[in-house]
Amino acid sequence: MANRIVNLDANAGVSMSDLAREAVIRAMDRQANPSSIHGPGRTAHGELEVARESLACVFDCSNDQIVFTSGATEAAALALSPCILDGETGRNIGKLYVSAVEHPCVYSGGRLAERVEFVPVRSDGVVDLAALERMLGAHDYSAGVPFLALMLANNETGVVQPVPEASRLVKDYGGYAFCDAVQAVGRIPFTFDALGTDFVSVSSHKIGGPHGAGALLLASADIRPLPLLTGGGQERGLRAGTENVAAIAGFGVAAKEALHHLENSPSTEALRDSLEVEITALTPDAVFAGGAAERLPNTSMVVVPGLPAETAVIAFDLEGFAVSSGSACSSGKVSASHVLLAMGYSTERAGNGIRISLPFDTTEGDIEEFLKVWRSVVDRLRPDKAA
Ligand code: PLP
Repeated sequence: MANRIVNLDANAGVSMSDLAREAVIRAMDRQANPSSIHGPGRTAHGELEVARESLACVFDCSNDQIVFTSGATEAAALALSPCILDGETGRNIGKLYVSAVEHPCVYSGGRLAERVEFVPVRSDGVVDLAALERMLGAHDYSAGVPFLALMLANNETGVVQPVPEASRLVKDYGGYAFCDAVQAVGRIPFTFDALGTDFVSVSSHKIGGPHGAGALLLASADIRPLPLLTGGGQERGLRAGTENVAAIAGFGVAAKEALHHLENSPSTEALRDSLEVEITALTPDAVFAGGAAERLPNTSMVVVPGLPAETAVIAFDLEGFAVSSGSACSSGKVSASHVLLAMGYSTERAGNGIRISLPFDTTEGDIEEFLKVWRSVVDRLRPDKAA
């Protein structure tokens, strides 16, 4: 069994960077309540504000547009609010239009679960804007305005969504928009402003920061969801509870590093593309889900007919490679990927997907080694197809 595990599952998470770890430890060593007005409290508050400034710099927004949360799941739950406070007016949400490929934390609808309508995607995984427009055209305003949730990049396929166009549409219909940008941070350039949505969620542990930190970005201090957690007035009343200062300090550092890597490190795109060429040569019936669409440069969802994806993930792990499957295992039950199903794959095919997602520092050597085990794992698990 291999000792070293090569992470080819960056979309699930990457290890913490050295600088982020140092920031976490430094903040932990001087732990104090950031709401306290004494010296130690002010120091902790300072740590929070340094991290806020870093995020503001990365997303090209101002400090007061950032609400720290425990992660992107909480940020989505905060954003998906039954009522949006727009200036002095409370505007009820009549229906939540959710793309059929959202991460489960958005797909489930948060506080709008009863009012979810799914927006279909095309076979390439890109949201069907014509269908969205038809749905908005038929929106019943009697219960409230429309609210759109559309991710910037899909966690399973890497497919990039036309968020600016979609949010413009929903604005034309008097609604609000939320974007889950978790997978796009550090992988493709974007600014909050260019997305045009009212809210954006981001997460720390996908970009080299610690677990347990994330943020909801607000386009305007005047457009706010109803708080999910009430109590103390932390985060300008939008997220009560003492902030996780250490995790947030690490998040701030990691966000700046992610931007630095994006601007200065070679893209993983060439490696991902060569991986796909080699996989096609070794496994000619493999299909790359979303391969025809614009994708994140690090992600490949390989659908291999007849390959039991869950078993393959375990086999790759034993060979020293962390990848993941398109199927989700929760409560001991394996269910087919809702993303692949939404793209028109059959239930059987949706259980044949292996997601390979490269961290920014993946090497050619990692890919070569992975390709060596690819053939043996796939042939072993598909004996009828082995050459
Ligand atoms: N959104 C996307 C696209 C994700 O990939 C993830 C994590 O897998 C999340 C949201 C949830 O993020 P967190 O773990 O910070 O709650």
